[in-house]
Amino acid sequence: MNEKVCDQSDDRKQKVNLNKLQKKLRRSMGQAIADFEMIEEGDKVMVCLSGGKDSYTMLDILLNLQHNAPVKFELIAVNLDQKQPGFPADVLPEYLKQLGIPYFIIEQDTYSVVQRVIPEGKTTCSLCSRLRRGSLYTWAEENGITKIALGHHRDDLIETLFLNMFYGGKLKTMPPKLLSDNGKHVVIRPMAYCREKDITQYAEGKKFPIIPCNLCGSQDNLQRQAMKEMLTQWDKQFPGRLETIFSSIQNVAPSHLADSSLFDFKALSQTDESQKFDLTDGEKILHLDLS
Ligand code: SF4
Repeated sequence: MNEKVCDQSDDRKQKVNLNKLQKKLRRSMGQAIADFEMIEEGDKVMVCLSGGKDSYTMLDILLNLQHNAPVKFELIAVNLDQKQPGFPADVLPEYLKQLGIPYFIIEQDTYSVVQRVIPEGKTTCSLCSRLRRGSLYTWAEENGITKIALGHHRDDLIETLFLNMFYGGKLKTMPPKLLSDNGKHVVIRPMAYCREKDITQYAEGKKFPIIPCNLCGSQDNLQRQAMKEMLTQWDKQFPGRLETIFSSIQNVAPSHLADSSLFDFKALSQTDESQKFDLTDGEKILHLDLS
């Protein structure tokens, strides 16, 4: 085979793979949207774009789903230009203009605020995220947005689960759908079922114009980094473990945890026939007579 024929067949293979990946991501996103009723008829969805692989992929697949969706909804891509030094301000507008979709760039110098307020050497992410959230929520309210879509994926949810367990003493993560604290905004995470590996591969295949995420000069969140490494290791060593962990957060059994605000442990009583042990059912094992 000559070189030209080889190149053509490689190109074809890449296209087929990218199509397969797109179908997979579309299926996962469609499923999450349906399971959590994320998008309804007439919704005005603000797609938050950071310029990273996740948000580009989310926008791309949402646009794709919009064409065939059984309900009509609007998509508006929104980026917050935080005025970080070196931020390539023209990359996103050029990309979005090419797509021919409605978009808006919010310009707010949260970078200077963070630099001014946080002492040198301290972590800036918490204040930075709060300011970012504030700007996006305000814009959403002023522009009649009904849903705010964020590009977190399945692996973000798993990482956050362990971060909360290891450092916060809580069993919780980022939910696929959330009402903001002030009750005014519904935040959705349509990629809650998507694997990061697939997103990375898709973003590479689509050649999205990625904007680097280290412009703020902040160090990587070391705890999150450690979680990521732990999960990557597990994924290599025990294929399928991440899938199982994710399934576990969809199969919660409050009666088998220890939070008395979720389950009325005090009301359990030996006199209750229904609570008597049954060796076929591990649930009632507490009542096993050991004498
Ligand atoms: S990494 Fe930088 S931009 Fe991201 S939240 Fe932290 S301070 Fe903000």
